[in-house]
Formats: sequence, structure tokens, C-alpha cells
Amino acid sequence: MKAAILGVGTELLTGLIRDYNAYFLAQRLVERGVLPQFIIFAPDQIEKIVSALQFIMQEEEIKLVIVSGGLGPTEDDLTREAVARAFNRNLVFNSEAWNKIQFFYRQLRNVEPPENNKKQAFIPQGGEILYNERGTAPGFKLQVEDKNIFVIPGVPREAEFFWSLIEKELPQEEENFYRSPVFKFCGIGESNLAEEVRPFLAYLPSSFNIAFLPNYGEVWLYVYSSNYSLEQKELALLFLDKVAHHLDRFFFTPYGDTLEEAVGNMMKEKGLKLGVAESCTGGLVANRITDVAGSSQYFERGYVVYSNEAKKEDLEVPEEILKEKGAVSEEVARFLAQSVRRKGKVDLGLGITGIAGPGGGSEGKPVGLVYIALASEDDIIVQKFHFSGDRLMNKRFASQSALTMVFQCLKEKFDL
Ligand code: ATP
Ligand code: MG
Repeated sequence: MKAAILGVGTELLTGLIRDYNAYFLAQRLVERGVLPQFIIFAPDQIEKIVSALQFIMQEEEIKLVIVSGGLGPTEDDLTREAVARAFNRNLVFNSEAWNKIQFFYRQLRNVEPPENNKKQAFIPQGGEILYNERGTAPGFKLQVEDKNIFVIPGVPREAEFFWSLIEKELPQEEENFYRSPVFKFCGIGESNLAEEVRPFLAYLPSSFNIAFLPNYGEVWLYVYSSNYSLEQKELALLFLDKVAHHLDRFFFTPYGDTLEEAVGNMMKEKGLKLGVAESCTGGLVANRITDVAGSSQYFERGYVVYSNEAKKEDLEVPEEILKEKGAVSEEVARFLAQSVRRKGKVDLGLGITGIAGPGGGSEGKPVGLVYIALASEDDIIVQKFHFSGDRLMNKRFASQSALTMVFQCLKEKFDL
């Protein structure tokens, strides 16, 4: 079965709001073996929503259509009217839906619903109402020709709830699109990864496609097929295992984990502890590490030493080094890493110093220059990077490189 997703809302076309619903729904559909053939966005304009629906209706293979957004009580929410017009139906008042809306307001907000909420109790004739457990706007389901059309609210939390209703109606047995788990790699670029994978391609059944996805310093690898046998699926998974084994030094998860989760699991396994001293990343590394539940088992402390004073006072970076080499230097990164390791009495100490930009660069030390040091018991590794993004991207890339260095050190030194 194939699907189409239609996101309604002018804010999605003007870049004010970044789409979440289509992203979320596509993931869930693909997990269920249903491939979205089109994701379309339409503004809050009846004619445009109607055109988008008409376009989708022409696509024979599409049997499931999910429309999100535009079901609110305000003037600019027009999806209900557009659906009715596209399929030549009247909008009919549903008293049970109105009761629910009234109940929602009285129970949760202790007020009567405004009169304009009544609009939300109208659905196209022949539609089946779908109740919203997370908000006022009910959704509805409509069968038109051989297509099942679900119309659901735009608020992401509510759209997620409606997925649980849609999911129940998907055919159980059918699975004609398969995407493998995503195998994630760090510390290797996309083209190098592709080179390393090439000799193994002979093991991948020809019914499968391969995809490489660079993602903020990681490369994600997966395979997919729209037409495969179970035996071919097994072979495709075996292919991924072979690649992961061959590239073990760079491979960190087939389970969807983030790099910080993977690093955390490795540290837990070996009972190791980490401390970080950050300048240009402003605590981002500590933040990412502590995004992981249970990180207290291996994360001991983090310093944000942004000024030279902080570097001197908190982590004993010598005044002369700061003067002679500058705050953004290999030497300072070393001091940061060693001091935090010593102060925290931890196995690994990370030190990060650099220029996130957009200002603060010079000829010798351009924006994007970052030094990262990792101190362990018997040595210290320092790497110099030159990132070319904007401020936030440089911070993100620096945090990613720091985590990658920890990952590589754990692989090499701790037999992981
Ligand atoms: P409600 O009646 O609960 O407001 P609705 O169907 O009217 O639901 P909208 O008014 O279109 O929904 O949108 C509600 C909020 O959800 C807005 O802030 C909107 O920007 C956001 N939203 C709508 N569609 C999406 C989407 N695809 N991704 C992310 N946010 C969205
Ligand atoms: Mg809207």
C-alpha cells in the first residue's frame, strides 16, 4: 500500500514553522511497510487544498491519505471546507462532537467553549468522526473511491495521538516497502565510507537500494526495497552486518542510538568516568552527554570556562600560555583536558577551545578553528579542526568531534 501526506498551513510554506507532522507520520508509515509517495504542503487557502487533494486522488497506487492541520476554530482554518468541496459533500453538524468539545472546555478549562468552536463539530457528509484526546479539534475519516482519507489536527502532539488511531486501521499482513535499521558511523566521511562499502556490494541482493546519509559529522547507512523476498531481506541484513564488522572502528549503532548514547553505553560497560572543560561549545558537550538517562554513572563534571579568567581560576591554565599562545591554541586545549581529568579524578578529560564566530577570527586564527584535547591515563590526543558553518553549526560540529574522539579512544584503548 502507498500513502500520501498533505500538510496544511501557510506557516509551513513560509518557513515560519518547520514541519514535524509529515516527518513523524512518514517514519511511522515506513515502519509499517507503507511508503509515502508524496508529501505535499498547501497554504490555508481552500482552492490550493482542493488542488492538492485532486492531485492525490489521481494517483492510483495511493490508498491512504493523511491530511494534517487547519481544523482549528479560527478563520484561517479551512481544511474541513476544502475537503467537503473537493469531494462534493456538505458539511454536517455532529452533535456528539459538539458535546465532546463542550465537555473538554468545561472539564479542563472550566469555561464554556467560544461560539466559533462550533465550527469544529462540522464534518463532511459520510465522514466518521475521530475524537481527539489531546485537544478540542476532532479529526475525521472519509472513504472516497478506494482511498481512506484521514483528516487530523495540526498540533504535533495531537497529530501523534491520531496516528495511534490510523495505525489500527492499517492492514496487518501487508509489507511491501522495507527499510533496514539505520547503521550509524562517525569519524569517517561519506565518500570514504562508500569506498569501504564497495567491495561488499556484491552481497547485497539486487532488489535492494543502498543509501548514505551524511548527518552532522555522522554518516548513516541503510538499505531499502519496494519488492523483495524474506530471504533477500535476510541477505540485506547480513550485508549490513559485514560492513559494520569491517568498519568496526567507526560503527556505533544499528539501534537508532545517538552518539552520546553509544558513548555512554561504552563508558558504563567499562566503568569509566568522563569530565569536560568547554570554552567555545558553551556546555553543549555536557548537555548532550546529560541528555542521556543514567549519565550520572559516567559523567562526573563539566566546566564552561569561557573567559580567560575562568580558564585560569577554575582550571589553572597558566597566564603565560594564554598570553603567548592565545586562548584558542593546542596548549590551552591540553591544559583544559588535563586539569578537568585531574580535578574530577576521572579516566577521561576533554578540553575544547575555539572560535565559533561570526566575529573573533583573525588571519592566523580564523572563525571555525577549534582545538579538542582528550586526556587519558597515559596520554593526551589533540586534534585541530576548521569548521566552516555558522556559529551554531560550529558549536554542533565541535561537540560532535569531541564525542567522536571519545568514541575512538574507547574503541582503541579500552577494547570495546
Ligand atoms: P487545533 O484546532 O488544535 O489548533 P488545527 O488542525 O487547527 O488544530 P493548526 O491551527 O493548523 O491546527 O495548527 C496548530 C498548530 O500546530 C500551529 O502552531 C501550527 O503551526 C502547528 N502545526 C500545524 N501543522 C504542523 C506541522 N505539519 N508541523 C509542525 N507544526 C504544525
Ligand atoms: Mg493552521
